[in-house]
Amino acid sequence: MKKGNLPVQEYGLINVCMQTVENGTPLTCDDCGRTIFNIATIKGKSDGKIYNVGLSCVKKLLNKSIYFDLKTEWEFEQKQNEWKQAVNSLNWLKKKANEEIYEFALCKYENGKEFNIELHFAKDFGGYKKGYYGGRSSTMTLDKLPLFSEFVKA
Ligand SMILES: [Zn+2]
Repeated sequence: MKKGNLPVQEYGLINVCMQTVENGTPLTCDDCGRTIFNIATIKGKSDGKIYNVGLSCVKKLLNKSIYFDLKTEWEFEQKQNEWKQAVNSLNWLKKKANEEIYEFALCKYENGKEFNIELHFAKDFGGYKKGYYGGRSSTMTLDKLPLFSEFVKA
C-alpha cells in the first residue's frame, strides 16, 4: 500500500494497543507502511474497511483524513491514556526487577476484567523477610496483560 493511502472519511474505533519491541507482534501501518507496535484499529464508516494505523500517524491525520465523532475521540484518548499508564507500570516493574530482591505475582480481580502485579520479597532483605509484600502495580484491564509477559504468565 502506498504512503498516505488512508481514505478521508469518518472512522469508528475498534481497538488501541501498545506493545514493546521485546513482547510485541508488529503490524504494518496502513497509512505510511512502517512497522508499528503502537496501533489503533479503526473502521471506515463509508468504505466499511478495517485499518491498522500507528498511534503517531493517527495523531497526525486526525481531522485531515481521519475523522472521529466526539464520543470516539474521547474513547480514543481514554484508551491511549490507559495504555500509557500500563507502559509506566511496566517501566516501574523493570526497575524493581533490576533490584533483584522481588518476585512478581499476577493478581486477577474477581470482576474478571482487571489485574495488578504484586511484588513480594524473594529473599530476606534488611528488616523484610522472604515472602513479605513489597508493593504492587496500578490496576489494569486484562488486555494489557501481554505487556507483562516477562514478569508473569497469563
Ligand atoms: Zn503510519
